[in-house]
Amino acid sequence: MIRSIEFQNKFKSLFETEKKKLLFSSKVASEQFSVQADDLMDEVDFTSFEIENQMRMRLRNREALYLKKIDEALERISAGVFGLCDKCEEDIEMKRLEARPTTTLCVSCKETEERSEKLHIDGHQHKSLGKTIRFA
Ligand SMILES: [Zn+2]
Repeated sequence: MIRSIEFQNKFKSLFETEKKKLLFSSKVASEQFSVQADDLMDEVDFTSFEIENQMRMRLRNREALYLKKIDEALERISAGVFGLCDKCEEDIEMKRLEARPTTTLCVSCKETEERSEKLHIDGHQHKSLGKTIRFA
C-alpha cells in the first residue's frame, strides 16, 4: 500500500524535530562538558569525573546511533519506502511506527528475527555441550 503524503510529512517533520533536538542537546552537552572539565581538573575527585565522562560517551554513542537511524528513516521517506517492512515489504503497523518511528521491521518479522537470534544462541550452547560430551 502506498502511504499518503500526510503520513510521510508527519514522520518527516517528526524526524527533523528529533534531529534538531539531538544536535542541540549534544552541543549543550559538549559545552557543559568543557566547563566541568576545567572545574574538576584541580579536584581530587577525578574518578567521578572519569565515570561521568564514560557515561557521557555512552550517551553520545547512543545519540549518534539514533541520529543515524533518523537519517536512514528520512532517506526511506524520500525513497518512498518508509513504513514498509524490510523483510516482507508489508506495511508496518501504525501503532508500531508511532511507538518506534525508526523501526524497519513489522511486528511479526521482528518477532521472527528475535526468535532466530535466540535459536542461534541456543545452537551455540548445544554445539559446545556436544563437544563436552564427545570428549568425556
Ligand atoms: Zn515484515
